[in-house]
Amino acid sequence: MTDSVATDLAARAEAFRARAEQFRREEADEWARVIERSGEIPAALWQRIRELGLHRLTLPAWSGGEGLPLALYFPVLEEVARCHGAIRMVVHVSNSLWRTLSHARPDQQQEWLPRLARGEALLAFALTEPDNGTGVDLQTKAEYRGGRFLLQGRKHLITFADCADAIVVIAKTDAAAGRQGLTAFLVPRGQPGMEITPMPEMMGDRGCSHAVLTFRDCELAEDHVIGGVGQGFDVAVRGFLDQSRACIAQSGVGLAQAALDAAIAHVRKRVTFGKPLASRQAVQMKLAEMAVAIQAGRLLCLDAARKFDAGQSIAVEAAMAKAYAIRMVGQVTDAALSLHGGIGYMEGSPVERLYRDARSLWFEEGTLEMQQMTIAEALLAQARQAERQGRAARTESAGSGGDVGAGSGL
Ligand SMILES: Cc1cc2nc3c(=O)[nH]c(=O)nc-3n(C[C@H](O)[C@H](O)[C@H](O)COP(=O)(O)OP(=O)(O)OC[C@H]3O[C@@H](n4cnc5c(N)ncnc54)[C@H](O)[C@@H]3O)c2cc1C
Repeated sequence: MTDSVATDLAARAEAFRARAEQFRREEADEWARVIERSGEIPAALWQRIRELGLHRLTLPAWSGGEGLPLALYFPVLEEVARCHGAIRMVVHVSNSLWRTLSHARPDQQQEWLPRLARGEALLAFALTEPDNGTGVDLQTKAEYRGGRFLLQGRKHLITFADCADAIVVIAKTDAAAGRQGLTAFLVPRGQPGMEITPMPEMMGDRGCSHAVLTFRDCELAEDHVIGGVGQGFDVAVRGFLDQSRACIAQSGVGLAQAALDAAIAHVRKRVTFGKPLASRQAVQMKLAEMAVAIQAGRLLCLDAARKFDAGQSIAVEAAMAKAYAIRMVGQVTDAALSLHGGIGYMEGSPVERLYRDARSLWFEEGTLEMQQMTIAEALLAQARQAERQGRAARTESAGSGGDVGAGSGL
């Protein structure tokens, strides 16, 4: 990228961030009230988000998107995450899920990406199952018979499945092949054999719909496969989930910042024993701790984003950012609620919703334990590799009659 292209992109990203900030300051509270009251995201809000262009920030420029790299998208996402869980979800899903199609054939990309960029279509992503663990434990099967795949099984907790135009479904095509036995399918809305059952409202992120998908002899032609048979892991994890985990972490940063802002506003107003809470050193220490924790999360996200933009794998960086950010947002929203005292626990208080919405980030794109498993696997793989390399170097050195002195282990 030339310097002038990079400068132009950075200026456009900043314009979107400023637009999102203005939306947060002028409109978000009213939309939040409507969502909390109705339990729905009004059609006018979907429309408003699209008008502002917030749904197409990361989509490639050729498709009509803004083509923002992750590191420039994150400040915009942070603004959005300060608004309301459902608003964050709409923007996140729109800017993340298209990446499952980065492994798709050119004709599939041509069909879907411009529609997504114009705001005329929405995707959902179905991995989680009610009866099994995620990953190689998946039991939704796609059996190949007579030139077609027959999909059988169940998925649940699938965000926006009821209103999506197509759902990316991860299913097993070869039970014996481990990760290589998973395949991704693009299943259009209304496909015979796919039943969508709405799930009850969640504790937070009110307004977002989630559904159970049941597949009974759901017949799919070969051209519904994304990225080739056996490449479902790459489509789901490398293509989408890794960067999406970093996005969830960044959302945690935005939400925590909103909680800190609310706490600061409250402690400056609330007077006890003749003094504002903000004048107490114990309270000041708490605010400082919250701010440091948020900034640490922001920097972990930025590190993951920069490496992603440079074309590196960010499996570990994204897992670290998410593992840190979900605990951080839990602690910060908890502290903000404590600083509000009992009044903060009332429905409709500035921190009560943030406290509930924060918990959703714990689950989206994998729990803390899942992130820790990813990090530990990488650490142990590195240690094994270092040991193998050390052994190989020693063998080579001994074979060539070289110096096998200190550090050789002999
Ligand atoms: C708001 C929201 C939106 C979501 N949207 C989607 C979506 O659009 N698409 C989708 O596919 N999914 C979605 N999910 C599901 C989400 O990805 C999962 O809930 C999450 O990955 C955890 O999986 P699980 O619910 O199956 O938990 P489980 O696997 O049942 O785990 C329960 C607990 O046990 C722990 N655990 C599980 N296995 C192990 C192990 N081997 N070792 C140690 N600990 C373990 C977990 O860390 C967790 O704490 C959504 C969830 C929420 C809350």
